[in-house]
Amino acid sequence: MSKYTAPLADMRFALFDVLDSEKMISTFPGGEAMQRDLLDAVLEEAAKFNEQVLAPLNQSGDAEGCTFDKATATVTTPKGFREAYQQFIAGGWAGVNAPEEFGGQNVPHCIGAAIKEMVDSANLSWANYPLLSHGATEALKHHGEDWQREVFLKPIVEGIWTGTMCLTEPHCGTDLGLLKTRAEPAADNTFRLSGTKIFITGGEHDLTDNIVHLVLARLPDAPPGTKGISLFIVPKFKVTREGKVGERNPVFCGSIEHKMGIRGSSTCVMNFDGAEGYLIGQPNKGLNAMFTMMNTARIAVGYQGLALAERAYQNSLAYARDRLQMRSLAGPKAPDKPADPLIVHPDIRRMLLTQKAFAEGGRVLGYYAAQQVDIIERSPDAAERQKADELLGFITPIVKGLLTEMAQECTYDALQVFGGHGYIAEWGMEQLARDARITTIYEGTTQIQALDLLGRKILQLQGAGLRHFVGEISAFCQTHQANTALIEFIKPLAELTQEWIGLTQEIGKKAMGNPEEMGAAAVDYLFYASYITLAYFWALSVAAADASKTHSADFVLSKRITARFYYSRILPRTRGHLAAMRAGAESLMAMPDALFG
Ligand SMILES: Cc1cc2nc3c(=O)[nH]c(=O)nc-3n(C[C@H](O)[C@H](O)[C@H](O)COP(=O)(O)OP(=O)(O)OC[C@H]3O[C@@H](n4cnc5c(N)ncnc54)[C@H](O)[C@@H]3O)c2cc1C
Repeated sequence: MSKYTAPLADMRFALFDVLDSEKMISTFPGGEAMQRDLLDAVLEEAAKFNEQVLAPLNQSGDAEGCTFDKATATVTTPKGFREAYQQFIAGGWAGVNAPEEFGGQNVPHCIGAAIKEMVDSANLSWANYPLLSHGATEALKHHGEDWQREVFLKPIVEGIWTGTMCLTEPHCGTDLGLLKTRAEPAADNTFRLSGTKIFITGGEHDLTDNIVHLVLARLPDAPPGTKGISLFIVPKFKVTREGKVGERNPVFCGSIEHKMGIRGSSTCVMNFDGAEGYLIGQPNKGLNAMFTMMNTARIAVGYQGLALAERAYQNSLAYARDRLQMRSLAGPKAPDKPADPLIVHPDIRRMLLTQKAFAEGGRVLGYYAAQQVDIIERSPDAAERQKADELLGFITPIVKGLLTEMAQECTYDALQVFGGHGYIAEWGMEQLARDARITTIYEGTTQIQALDLLGRKILQLQGAGLRHFVGEISAFCQTHQANTALIEFIKPLAELTQEWIGLTQEIGKKAMGNPEEMGAAAVDYLFYASYITLAYFWALSVAAADASKTHSADFVLSKRITARFYYSRILPRTRGHLAAMRAGAESLMAMPDALFG
């Protein structure tokens, strides 16, 4: 069975040393009450819950999966999931980041990010049930009417109801402009929704009595495409404006999917058969509200990637220390034993260091994004909020794209460290690889993150977020330009940042002549930008470790050595992506469709 111990020391390092979260939190109204000891205590409690309650259910939940009863249209989650959920809400974890006015704990999002990482590492399938409640909370908070917030937010924040996100239909996942679900106005100011949604995470389950579906649908007079989409609340059990729970709404689970990974998470076909719904926000403006929910969920899925990379690393490291195979090329390292441990071999170290570099660097990136959410929600300074909003928009596709793609590499590397023992179920490594696979697909595939980054955030919106971010890197490089201990990182980082700006202009110009140049470059651009972004967070990490008075010399040294590994063995991947981008659209589009066969 794969094991999990919350990496509290590294989480604290990322939060409090690299990102200075305690100071940031203290500048927010009411932030002075959130002192370091309180934040530490929250993290420690979260670690206990996740290690002791959720982690032990990870492998059994995968083996058992969810079951669907056609006669009652109900879904039973794996043994132990329901009890764990009860403990989760009793501990107040469901609404840990939600505002106090809705019954939440108001803990800053950067701390919430660390908690979310722990939940995802401990048990990704289980984590998906409360996941979409966070997105629903955001959509209702920002776009819901007062009565909707009053009636639906409190139970969701408390965790006694969960939320879902119903976008995908059989004929459309990426292209939501094609969706067909209809919403007919009814006499009582409500709507009747009819249609089929597929792949709905947590669409039906036995953890809570009610489920609040947030559903995209079309009004009868809606214009075609994305301009004609509205967002509705459709609860499993109808709820009055006064909050009284009534009869069963005709929205039923038709079946659940049998899938590669996250088998303890129910993935449902949901049939809406004239189900009662309540409009959120303006008619035909549903996509705006949905984006609020999707952006939260995109970052959250990025954390899923990070979490699996961390768990993969922990287990493959322990195995590499323990398993004896062959002798070191430099002569025996454990002469008293029949062979040396795997960790002596260069290529095993490459795989371990790749995971370590991605997990620890990715952690700083993930928590940095959460800090932007905190600034947007809490800073009294409007200019600061605006900047954070632009930075968050820019960094979101990188968080989602990079952290989930690196989870593929890390879980496969970890499996490889185990050899044949990684491939069989017993050690739990193949589960991590299977579970990781979905993360690059749902909440917008990697391709969609790439188009969002290059096409929308940079070229269409003129790259305000990129400018802020590059400005931040340049300021950091300038501050440390005379720091001899950091020059090995600062020099390549500064050069690459300049190259990044020039490349963006180059692609922008080409795309003006031929829009396919943007699509042809997008995924390589996402990786290229992501690797430079992570290089920045690694340089920041080394600077923070050097400056730290609390970390051991070994800890500081391990940060520097990992950063060197990252700069010398991962960052050069930007060269390949650069060459691919410069090969342009022609190399992809020259082949006539008919000649592919
Ligand atoms: C386990 C699971 C859970 C899910 N949970 C939910 C949920 O809770 N709610 C929900 O609404 N949906 C959910 N989904 C659906 C998921 O978000 C979609 O599967 C995903 O968005 C892709 O849509 P699709 O499967 O229809 O693929 P398609 O849209 O058909 O895309 C197929 C491929 O084409 C690529 N592609 C499409 N357009 C372009 C383009 N312009 N340029 C380049 N490449 C392109 C895509 O990246 C993808 O690789 C879930 C799916 C799964 C498998």
